[in-house]
Amino acid sequence: MPSPNTTPSATASTPPDFDSLALPHVAALHAYTPGLQPTEPGWIKLNTNECPYPPSPAVAKAVAAELGADGAAGEVGAALRLYPEPTSAVLRAAIAAHHNTTLSAAGINGTSALRVANVCVGNGSDDILNLLVRCFCAEGAGQGSESGRAAGFTLPSYSLYPVLVGIANGQSIEIKFDRSMRLPLEQIASSGAAIFFLTSPNAPTGVGFSAAQIEALLAAYDGLLVVDEAYAPFAREDAVGLLARYPRLIVVRTFSKAYALAGIRVGYCLAHERVIALLDRVRDSYNVNRLSQAAALAALGDPQYYAHVIARVCATRDAALTRFAEQGWFCYPSQANFLFVEPRNGRGETGAAVAQAAYDFLRERRILVRHFPSPLTAPFLRITVGTDEQMLTLWHTLQEWLHHA
Ligand SMILES: *Cc1c(COP(=O)(O)O)cnc(C)c1O
Repeated sequence: MPSPNTTPSATASTPPDFDSLALPHVAALHAYTPGLQPTEPGWIKLNTNECPYPPSPAVAKAVAAELGADGAAGEVGAALRLYPEPTSAVLRAAIAAHHNTTLSAAGINGTSALRVANVCVGNGSDDILNLLVRCFCAEGAGQGSESGRAAGFTLPSYSLYPVLVGIANGQSIEIKFDRSMRLPLEQIASSGAAIFFLTSPNAPTGVGFSAAQIEALLAAYDGLLVVDEAYAPFAREDAVGLLARYPRLIVVRTFSKAYALAGIRVGYCLAHERVIALLDRVRDSYNVNRLSQAAALAALGDPQYYAHVIARVCATRDAALTRFAEQGWFCYPSQANFLFVEPRNGRGETGAAVAQAAYDFLRERRILVRHFPSPLTAPFLRITVGTDEQMLTLWHTLQEWLHHA
């Protein structure tokens, strides 16, 4: 109960000025803006690059077994009393084996295969990115002796990077793409960043960089290179084969996109074992829960299912890209599960206002896509590749917009 005789000044029940109690850089932070996650049904959700198909049926079985809901043993849910395996060892071994299989199928490696010690698993790859910033990006970078420890990334790319650097009170170095979206190799090489985050294929453009380009960058840039390969399963090439020869390379992957497990929150990185040992020092000891470890392990156990899903998404993507091109809309060649397309209205105009109008028109009709307001991205929409049926509805709705606007 509130006291009847409180004074207007500070009392036990008056909240203090929390912002002034917080660390100044925390009070000044701008949080990451996630894409909208509507809770009511009826939306065509093409805004956060989730998979339009369910995960392998083996995943639900594994989660049920972990819960004891398959009736195999004990009370349902009894296993949840116990902490998960703290190092995700079984999952890490399966991840290493998965990549070794892929590498040898591609005729790469053999002698220097990935081992458990080269894998760190996180609560989503966002957790891994955060650990990397915590380990390698100095607080107050740029303000004195630690001025070399800045974190670099390109614009546009994944907008979580600057948020993580901000939380660490570090310094960001931004390297801008031009409209060609070609890799700005020289600028990255001379950026002075201690750690550089390169998204490949890039988000939000979908443009992929080849292994040869990544290798050229590793030769020119002498810091730690993090290649965020959230969309690599949809791409022609990836950088995993370079790990054996480049100890400064760190490859980040996720189960959220190609494995249709965004809700389960598992990501990982592949790196030199000494990098993994550093990440292990700063990560939460139980950072990946029981159900998530079981789900990711089961997903890795069903490669045929996922090869089929990925092929289907890529086919839908390429068909949509062709349709946009025939319509005269510019679209970057995508190696991811989304398209970055520049809408053109009924009068043939493009630009930020046109993209915003198309976005609004779609949203009023319960189709969610993504629009990023910064100058280089504002004339575009980022559209996640859905099912063929969802893409057809999107297409018809855009035709309606063309004739309406
Ligand atoms: C989606 C995405 C991630 C986040 O993955 P989670 O594993 O869900 O945390 C990381 N990087 C990029 C570039 C992404 O698009």
